[in-house]
Amino acid sequence: MTTHTFSAAKLASLGLLTLSLCATAQQHQHQHQHGPHGATPHTQAAQQALRSSLPLLDKQAFADAQRGLVEALGDEVIMGANGRPVWSLKGYEFLKPEAAPDTVHPGLWRHAQLNMTNGLFNVTDRVWQLRGFDLSNMTIIEGDSGLIVIDPLISTEVAAAAMKLYFKHRPQRPVKAVIYSHSHADHFGGVRGVVQQEDVDAGRVSIWAPAGFVHEAVGENVLAGNAMSRRALYQFGPLLPRSAKGQVDAGLGKTISLGSITLIAPTRLIEKPVETHRIDGVEIVFEMTPGAEAPAEFIMHYPQFKVLNMAEIATQNFHNLLPVRGALVRDPLIWSKYLDGALQRYGSRSEILIAQHNWPVWGQGRVQDFLGKQRDAYKYVHDQAVRLLNHGYTGPELAERIQMPDSLNQEWSVHSFYGSLKHNLKAIYQRYLGYYDGNPANLESLPPVETAQRSIRYMGGADAVLQRAREDYAKGDFRWVAQVGSQLVFADPSNQAARQLTADAMEQLGYQSESATARNAYLMGALELRHGVPKLPGATTASPDVIRAMPLEMYFDYLGVRLNGPKAAGKSVVMNWRFTDVKQNLVLRLQNSALSTSMDTQAEQPDATLTLTRATLDAISLQQMTFPQAVQSGAIQIQGNGAKLMELLQLLDTFPRMFPLVEPRPSQTP
Ligand SMILES: [Zn+2]
Repeated sequence: MTTHTFSAAKLASLGLLTLSLCATAQQHQHQHQHGPHGATPHTQAAQQALRSSLPLLDKQAFADAQRGLVEALGDEVIMGANGRPVWSLKGYEFLKPEAAPDTVHPGLWRHAQLNMTNGLFNVTDRVWQLRGFDLSNMTIIEGDSGLIVIDPLISTEVAAAAMKLYFKHRPQRPVKAVIYSHSHADHFGGVRGVVQQEDVDAGRVSIWAPAGFVHEAVGENVLAGNAMSRRALYQFGPLLPRSAKGQVDAGLGKTISLGSITLIAPTRLIEKPVETHRIDGVEIVFEMTPGAEAPAEFIMHYPQFKVLNMAEIATQNFHNLLPVRGALVRDPLIWSKYLDGALQRYGSRSEILIAQHNWPVWGQGRVQDFLGKQRDAYKYVHDQAVRLLNHGYTGPELAERIQMPDSLNQEWSVHSFYGSLKHNLKAIYQRYLGYYDGNPANLESLPPVETAQRSIRYMGGADAVLQRAREDYAKGDFRWVAQVGSQLVFADPSNQAARQLTADAMEQLGYQSESATARNAYLMGALELRHGVPKLPGATTASPDVIRAMPLEMYFDYLGVRLNGPKAAGKSVVMNWRFTDVKQNLVLRLQNSALSTSMDTQAEQPDATLTLTRATLDAISLQQMTFPQAVQSGAIQIQGNGAKLMELLQLLDTFPRMFPLVEPRPSQTP
């Protein structure tokens, strides 16, 4: 069993792949014989039109982002234990000029500049934030005797560096409580950089989280994790060079840190819709917001400070309903209701709104205005999408027809810097009606390669198509050129001219994207068309904390998705598993090419019974040993037919970390 896939799963919520980011980006930069190119006249004209229609004169956010700055992090490099850089804002110096270059959407350029504001900020008396140490923010509240830390970033190294900068300016007081606002890794992974397990075990530190936190934190992306992890490279663009022709931002922040991800289980769960607790003398009203941005999440109000913390329910953008990496579609209707609830209950009692990404909003009137517009953006997009699908429009048509109303378009905080409006509109169609548009011609449409080969043949062959596509490229019809060019590539991936033209079209689309994640996706597509799928060094490293926290049943569910069905045809295996340390039993049963797990029971006549500890299973997941080694060393004791275990292991697939996305897979997948 390899841990590679578990690790990928864990990291997939953000695409936190462990890779040598800077080295890889530079490597690619040197290889660019075919690009990146500049903006074509059509892209230049599109950017110019945007400059006159966007509210670029509104500089309020720059004042908001700077307000309360005590000391900036600057371009300090935060190192990992292995001597590898984990975080740095170096390379983003190109964002300094006020006017956007033609290769970046002017709205995204502005947002990318704002996300560069970094360091320790005094939000108000006793409330502090550390921003620009990671994709997410860390908030610190000074309690009566110690500190309350909200969301300890992605990795321990950046969390420790953030605490260090705080203590440089504030008294050295103990952390009394950690609060995880929700179940995504950018809001808990650095916890061991902030507190120690023994202090939690001894009751000196309490850890607060929404109900369902652990299950969602370790499980949200397990089963489809490998695919999400691969696709997350397109969402965040860590392999792209940092430049005006490359990665400029990630919407919620600059990018993701690459250090050690940890998890300490919560000691206190918020279960009711609203709960009020006094933590180290600070009153905190927790309000649950499940099923919107995350399956387990809450917002917080701190009445004595008149501060509302919206976690990730309201940040300085219109969020993802469906990330580019892929996920279950989120619910914009309930999201808008949470925003309205926050406005109704806390709007008149809040002078400051903070969130766990981006910068705050100051002033009661502006807080209310901000929440109202966020609510309206989600409600408008939801309602208009559902209205049009009820008229018969399909996903791609919704995406063409629906734009934000002018009144919201003039408001920067609801622009799609992270999510993409068009993508979100298709996601709403998918949420309600699924992939199928109702036209039976599409009920069994041919897969991409077969469609492409026939289409190109019907269109008069590759050369004729390429010539027309070049003409359309010159006319600035980049969307169509990317679409038809991709058909050429899927019909024949060795067609270099088609690959270059498609890459060029994707690049221009990236330059014109306001959404950072759409830009990253287009530019990654261009990069891979030009240079092929990058080879990343080494396997990913699993996070021991996350593997240990994974429920046993989830582990075996994941084993099920690795079972190669055709290979398993006709095989039958029944195995009892007994975990002596956690006192859990289960039956693993292979029949009809399906691997099923029955928890808390044992088969009467198994082929074999395995006795082991959960610790042994975790060690196997962490690649510290293999199943055969564990059997040999006696860490796994087998009664009955031990060969059945090996037979089963041989039926399990190992997933490729870097499968192709913009070209066909080279051979049939097993
Ligand atoms: Zn987040």
